[in-house]
Amino acid sequence: MDNWEFKYIRVGQAEYERARNDATWNGRVPARYPTLIVYPERDDHVRDIVLYAKTKNLSIGTKSGGHSWTASFLRDGGILIDLSRMNEFDFDVECRTARAQPAAYGSDLNAALVPHNLMFPGGHCPTVGLGGFLLQGGFGWNSRKWGVACESVTAIDVVTADGDLIHADSTQHSDFYWAARGAGCGYFGVITRFYLKLYTLPRFMTARYVFEIKDFDDVVTAIDAVSDQVSIDLEIGFFVAHDQDGFEGRPTVAITADAISDSVEEARRALDLLHNLPPMKKTIKSWPYVACTLKQMLQRFDDILDNRGRRYEVNNLWTDKPVQALLPSFHRIIDELPPAPSHLYMMWWLPVRSRPDMAFSMEARLYVALYAISTDSASDAPNAEYVVRAMELMDDHKKGIQLADENLPGHPGKFMTTRNYVHLEQLRARHDPHGRFYNYIRVPPEFEQVWASL
Ligand SMILES: Cc1cc2nc3c(=O)[nH]c(=O)nc-3n(C[C@H](O)[C@H](O)[C@H](O)COP(=O)(O)OP(=O)(O)OC[C@H]3O[C@@H](n4cnc5c(N)ncnc54)[C@H](O)[C@@H]3O)c2cc1C
Repeated sequence: MDNWEFKYIRVGQAEYERARNDATWNGRVPARYPTLIVYPERDDHVRDIVLYAKTKNLSIGTKSGGHSWTASFLRDGGILIDLSRMNEFDFDVECRTARAQPAAYGSDLNAALVPHNLMFPGGHCPTVGLGGFLLQGGFGWNSRKWGVACESVTAIDVVTADGDLIHADSTQHSDFYWAARGAGCGYFGVITRFYLKLYTLPRFMTARYVFEIKDFDDVVTAIDAVSDQVSIDLEIGFFVAHDQDGFEGRPTVAITADAISDSVEEARRALDLLHNLPPMKKTIKSWPYVACTLKQMLQRFDDILDNRGRRYEVNNLWTDKPVQALLPSFHRIIDELPPAPSHLYMMWWLPVRSRPDMAFSMEARLYVALYAISTDSASDAPNAEYVVRAMELMDDHKKGIQLADENLPGHPGKFMTTRNYVHLEQLRARHDPHGRFYNYIRVPPEFEQVWASL
């Protein structure tokens, strides 16, 4: 440790609390305190840290962009590896490939790629770190068509529990590659580099429609009824919140439809289905068929999910049930929705299709997430209770959860198939037998028996 050339901060040092807070994107920073926070700048630094942890028998939490709502990387004792200084990327235009360190932002990568007519399916918000985003699957721009972003990861560099730096793909060290595509906040290694496949830059067109809250049932059921006909080019986001689009003092429904197509004509056609649904005539404000850029679309999400002074409580679920079955729960959720910018979000995902064999294995037709947001710490406890109680209303209809917006401490749910979970834990036992890397913060009830039997 004395010869470490990179920065580190011990618990108790003056800078410590600032470092713990800076690591966490969410304004609500959990009361969990690593003993040491380290800032490696290179792969060999990460290796030295893991070897040090091994000698001292310390556990390791890893943070790339710090966007985990629950700050899953923050644990008591042990070492927090803050990778924020490992944020570089490069790319090869001809081969349509990129290499990115884990704290690079998808938006920075895309800003560099766009002039070359290329793109990567990065997260919807500009500041999401590629590390955590890719590990949990990655619901990025155009992921309905291009697949979850981790399907575009062709290889990784990773430091193992033994302190070896290895290159893993489908032919070598494939256990590490399999787990890196979906294990999320339960990965057994530190990834230092992702090798990515790139795509031709599409054209973007967006539409937004706002409705009175009394029209919620009509609008949501109309979209749900045609969801299997929605073009694979179209991402439909459904927001319920107070004070949206200039309608102060009351909740409204807002639908955002983003068409990501090969041409402007195709984008228009994708939007037509939604635009022509009968309940769309009830809109009280609309912006149909607006050509836009990726940068503008990223900016929109940055405005919705902003962390300056904001404290978030989040929860989510996947369901295959028709929206009709969820309406009573939605009514109660909306009745109790905290003030703006808190919101209920829905996204029609897929007619689920086949994926490569990888840890990622939980998805369904409809995604529902709830974001309770405040600037006041006095709201933390009520908001935390609300997002759990509200989503519990739909427990009987839930297939599982995303690891992207996961609330494992408060409301754990099944985040991959049982088969994949068993396989992941077997791989962990083989490659990290002493538990050097922190496991999931809480095991969902669906996996408790499996866990006990391993
Ligand atoms: C504003 C906002 C917008 C979001 N938008 C999207 C979206 O559009 N699509 C989507 O899919 N998700 C989205 N998310 C969720 C986000 O993808 C996850 O929270 C993801 O974990 C964030 O990546 P990160 O690098 O910032 O993660 P971090 O918080 O840094 O890490 C999360 C966990 O991943 C593991 N981890 C991270 N890096 C490494 C590494 N290099 N090696 C090993 N383990 C590691 C650790 O266990 C860590 O606790 C969003 C989150 C926020 C806050």
